[in-house]
Amino acid sequence: MTELDYKLHLDDVIRRVEFARIRVSGHHIVKIVAISKYSTSSDIEKLYKIGQRAYGENKVQDLKVKSTELDELPLEWHFVGNLQKNKINNLLDIDPTLFHSLDSLELAYELQKKLEAKDMTLDTLMQINSAKEESKHGFMPEVASDIYAKIQLECPNINLRGVMSIGAHSDDQDVIKKSFETTHNIYKELEGATICSMGMSGDFEMAIECGSNLVRLGSVLFPK
Ligand SMILES: *Cc1c(COP(=O)(O)O)cnc(C)c1O
Repeated sequence: MTELDYKLHLDDVIRRVEFARIRVSGHHIVKIVAISKYSTSSDIEKLYKIGQRAYGENKVQDLKVKSTELDELPLEWHFVGNLQKNKINNLLDIDPTLFHSLDSLELAYELQKKLEAKDMTLDTLMQINSAKEESKHGFMPEVASDIYAKIQLECPNINLRGVMSIGAHSDDQDVIKKSFETTHNIYKELEGATICSMGMSGDFEMAIECGSNLVRLGSVLFPK
């Protein structure tokens, strides 16, 4: 794809995000994080040149390679994947803007230990398995608020900013919508939370209408 192709795609996506967010409120601002996991550094550079600053990866190794290759650009890097404990230090070395997918207490304690040792803090979201799917990571909705408060209390170097969910894997729009509403209802009740990360290429408009203020878009921005 050329830079012009990327521009047409990005413009179209921004227009769709605008229509969805305006249906919520003129004050509802939505951030786009381009998920670059199936893309190269040269693709990212083209998208950057037309104004996209925030990128996300789901593997620590890929995040490391691409952030290093592109380190002369003022990009913002997000980590959205499942973090294994033995990769925590590698992630912290990259010092991402936001870690979206804190999905267990065990990981929280391990992360806290490593952050403390490095004298760092990390902006983090709690991942919620809102549709209670076996295949997905994250906390169950009914325990999420209590655990959020517990992490806030016991892990001072983890700077919790809100929640993240992946929409239900279903063809039924109502089921997907319900999964987003579940996460948004938890989000609304959390002390100090400002980020509700929901919505991917196939469901971002619905996610925004359910209150998402950060969408993670891969294939719709980097078409094959
Ligand atoms: C891959 C991925 C995305 C983007 O998926 P698309 O459907 O390509 O937009 C968003 N969030 C997470 C956690 C992902 O792993």
